[in-house]
Amino acid sequence: MNAQLNIDLHTHSTCSDGALSPSELVAHAAAAGVRVLALTDHDSTDGLEEALSAAAALRIQLVPGVELSASWRAQDIHVLGLWMDPGNPALRSMLSCQARLRRERMESICLRLCKARLPGDALLAAVEAQRGLPTRSHLADAMVAAGLAARKDEAFRKYLAKGKAGHVSIEWPALPDTIGAILGAGGVAVLAHPGRYRLSAGARRRLLEDFAHAGGTALEIVSGANGAQHVEACTALALRYGLAGSVGSDFHSLEFAWNPLGRYLKLPDSITPVWRGQLP
Ligand code: AMP
Ligand code: MN
Ligand code: MN
Ligand code: MN
Repeated sequence: MNAQLNIDLHTHSTCSDGALSPSELVAHAAAAGVRVLALTDHDSTDGLEEALSAAAALRIQLVPGVELSASWRAQDIHVLGLWMDPGNPALRSMLSCQARLRRERMESICLRLCKARLPGDALLAAVEAQRGLPTRSHLADAMVAAGLAARKDEAFRKYLAKGKAGHVSIEWPALPDTIGAILGAGGVAVLAHPGRYRLSAGARRRLLEDFAHAGGTALEIVSGANGAQHVEACTALALRYGLAGSVGSDFHSLEFAWNPLGRYLKLPDSITPVWRGQLP
């Protein structure tokens, strides 16, 4: 069922660190043939209203989503909430805490940069001039614009990585609380980009075990530009821990041509699609 559906359940807009506004994102997705699109900004649902009205006009189905930052054993883990009620009071209160944590972290990072004789004040002003909730991605862009790094990943490596001048760790809500907030708002919880975390194979299995134990619904099996090997490894994990499977590009910008919206790799037949029972 839905095997050939063009579906993308992980994307960003200018309400977090994406380059397109919610309505531009929906228009590009529709042009790329996407039929079901989730907008999943980091810790924000601010773009959903605009995306919903753009989607209605283009006859594309918009899934309300969010990508929540959570902590698990001192690691930042990203959990997608899909089909949740963005007006749910407990979720709203979690999102306002996340926004505060993000703003405070950005100020601490920029203060540390100032202490390291880098232009922290100007960088903070550049980040705060953006529409979206502040992310380190905005800061890395500002660093490139200021000539402090040639490319974004260099800015991360040079200034934002552990042990560097602009590293500030943050205690996000614990993974089970994040999953609970999503489920409590009527949504499903998807562990995003499982290949992105720096974990040993054993630690990754423990993460999956804890995720499933806390009520997590699915694993992002088709994720970004990852190919068949990733799909195979994630399929084994999803089956082992009784998780459904999801599909998402983690689209941020048209600049990354190798990771377009709606790039579809089929979910294996052995995997229950996370959208089963959710789509009309
Ligand atoms: P934050 O959630 O504020 O920690 O920011 C993380 C975001 O920065 C991610 O969602 C990515 O979009 C982006 N990001 C993280 N690491 C890198 C990197 N090495 N190069 C480019 N972008 C990155
Ligand atoms: Mn991002
Ligand atoms: Mn992420
Ligand atoms: Mn993402």
